Amino acid sequence: VAASGKAEPLKVIISGAPASGKGTQCELITQKYGLVHIAAGDLLRAEVAAASENGKLAKEYMENGELVPNEIVVMMVKERLLQPDSQQRGWLLDGYPRSSSQAAALEDYGIRPDVFILLDVSEDILVERVVGRRLDPLTGKIYHLKYSPPEDDEIASRLTQRFDDTEEKACLVKLRLRTHHQNVDAVLSVYKDITVKAC
Ligand code: ADP
Repeated sequence: VAASGKAEPLKVIISGAPASGKGTQCELITQKYGLVHIAAGDLLRAEVAAASENGKLAKEYMENGELVPNEIVVMMVKERLLQPDSQQRGWLLDGYPRSSSQAAALEDYGIRPDVFILLDVSEDILVERVVGRRLDPLTGKIYHLKYSPPEDDEIASRLTQRFDDTEEKACLVKLRLRTHHQNVDAVLSVYKDITVKAC
């Protein structure tokens, strides 16, 4: 690398529970380092929206707050990581891996990040954040009814909740958190030497 005078593009994995602030951090990091942001959840939602075979299969799991099977997720993420833009600019991978087998799959393909960022936020704070979180479908901006309210009534009137974030599904939020915590330790053991914790 030194001889060619060209730095290798940066490869980062970020992990955090739903509403841990991952979205904001991803924006800051990708802006600062010019990385391609690859979010497993976004890739899956695109499949659901396109009503592809994978999307139809994934939807059920996503609605139940469960991990989508590896057969769907691993290839989808790997292919995105190997696209020319990711290879040239470097990448920030978000929402993957969520299990030791997903981490192992990346290792098997020789894909290893330079740093693993873990956002560590308590469960009480996370539930409050998720339940109050709203999306402006027009701009894609995320609001929180209490902590980051919309600027005016017009925006307020069009805010929506993500289908897997609604109040009736508060128990599902907890299920998603439990799933997350169950898997995070296994993932951590793979990236122990390159982990940075933040809250
Ligand atoms: P959140 O961080 O709120 O879980 P995401 O957009 O990251 O939101 O993910 C939404 C859903 O997509 C998850 O609840 C899960 O069903 C599915 N999903 C996302 N990433 C993965 C993954 N790496 N493996 C399996 N399922 C995933």
